[in-house]
Amino acid sequence: MENKEDIIEYISSYCTNHYNELEKAAINHHIAQVKFLPYKNKVKKMADAYERNTSTNPKVLELLKNGIEEFYKRASERVFKENFEELKLNRCPKCNGIARTPKAKQCRYCKYDWH
Ligand SMILES: [Zn+2]
Repeated sequence: MENKEDIIEYISSYCTNHYNELEKAAINHHIAQVKFLPYKNKVKKMADAYERNTSTNPKVLELLKNGIEEFYKRASERVFKENFEELKLNRCPKCNGIARTPKAKQCRYCKYDWH
């Protein structure tokens, strides 16, 4: 009784180590624009971080063209399809549903508590 969308969300939050190089570069690029760009003319460290993480690779930029939400969804769908067996998902011992976080010990579906 688990929801695939919940698994996709879990992958987006906790399994980005399974993203490929382009996808990882896309995350870094996004962080650079959001976190480092606003400070890059004021703080040297931020300027360096911006330079290091910004990508000019068209393939990376292509991944982000529909926005970060869409990017995470697609990349996580790919991981879901291609790396599902390698994922260490935190699942409910009772109903096997996906937990909200890797450390959660209560099931959102059946409410089972495994503390
Ligand atoms: Zn459960």
